[in-house]
Amino acid sequence: MALPFLPGSVSLPDFENLAYQQGKVLRVAIMGLGSYGTRVADAMQACKRAKLVGAISGTPAKLKDWQSKYNIPAKNCYNYENFDQIKNNRDIDAVYVITPNALHRDQVIRVAKAGKHAICEKPMAINAKEGQEMVDACRQANVKLLVGYRLHFEPNTLEIIRMRKAGELGKVMFFQGLSGFKIGDPKQWRLNKELAGGGAMMDIGIYSINGARYMVGEEPVWVTAQETKTDPVKFKEGVDETIQFQLGFPGGAVASCLSTYTMNNLDRFFLNGEKGFAELFPATGYGPIKGRTHKGELTGPHTTHQTVQMDEMAAIIFDNKQPVVPVDGAEGLKDLKIIDAIFQAVKTGRKVELKG
Ligand code: NAD
Repeated sequence: MALPFLPGSVSLPDFENLAYQQGKVLRVAIMGLGSYGTRVADAMQACKRAKLVGAISGTPAKLKDWQSKYNIPAKNCYNYENFDQIKNNRDIDAVYVITPNALHRDQVIRVAKAGKHAICEKPMAINAKEGQEMVDACRQANVKLLVGYRLHFEPNTLEIIRMRKAGELGKVMFFQGLSGFKIGDPKQWRLNKELAGGGAMMDIGIYSINGARYMVGEEPVWVTAQETKTDPVKFKEGVDETIQFQLGFPGGAVASCLSTYTMNNLDRFFLNGEKGFAELFPATGYGPIKGRTHKGELTGPHTTHQTVQMDEMAAIIFDNKQPVVPVDGAEGLKDLKIIDAIFQAVKTGRKVELKG
């Protein structure tokens, strides 16, 4: 395969030729019919290897709406009480969990016990202990666990990773990740520790953590972090407003990152090496993802991230395809271990070492 903007590339998603694949179509039920669930459902209408066939919701009216909007049969609709029965439904291969963060663990484990593959939104869980339980449950049930890391299939992101691997940036020395937005409604679940598991870090800071790892191409060995809070009424105990954190990598690179719910215009990655640099701005929005390197502007095509992600996930599940950057439970767990360490560093004011 060769994409015109990436001569010699061998491992990017094959956007144009997905149709040629003879593989099976992944039949997916979405759990949690909220704003991101709807975005995924819309994007899936253009998928070639994945199909939206089911829905799980606590609101009967939403299920009715989805049945007519996406042509979903009533027999493939469930609520949060009865969705374990999905194990008897031979027309569903996978469940995509798109609910508030703190619900992911139990829901994914129930999906695994029903014998269905689980796709889970980020953050995979609210701490590494829960993440490990999900990985274990899916392994035991012999189903795959994948995390909705849509940027792992994004062309400009993958071009930077290709350049770094090819040595075009030289030895990588520094990464900066800025992730944030000004959050509105104080009553939303994202500001409720019980449902969100934290604040900005769980929701948006995770993009800088995940990005630091795929841009630098190593796993961090230490973390330091500092928290600031300007509004303790809106951001209650355990709900972080702003955290700056630093990561140290085994090759000597360092990362400096910002996670916040108080400022807009923060969606930027900058990677610096001894021979060159790469910048993405915006780096993680729904696109177009834009950027440049020391060689010039990045010109990869704008894709609908969730369409490509679901087609690629079908190939991962059915053909055991290995993506350039993993999207499996082990990958989700790595981010959760770093989040745990960041919270510990904030609490103790100390550098926290990360082990394997
Ligand atoms: P949302 O509030 O729009 O939707 C959440 C859905 O979960 C709603 O339909 C709600 O009814 C349902 N739900 C089920 N049980 C609930 C409960 N006990 N309390 C509250 N709601 C409950 O949120 P969203 O923006 O769709 O986020 C859902 C998940 O998707 C989160 O984990 C979030 O981090 C993730 N997300 C990922 C991306 C991405 O780009 N990958 C973007 C947005 C959100």
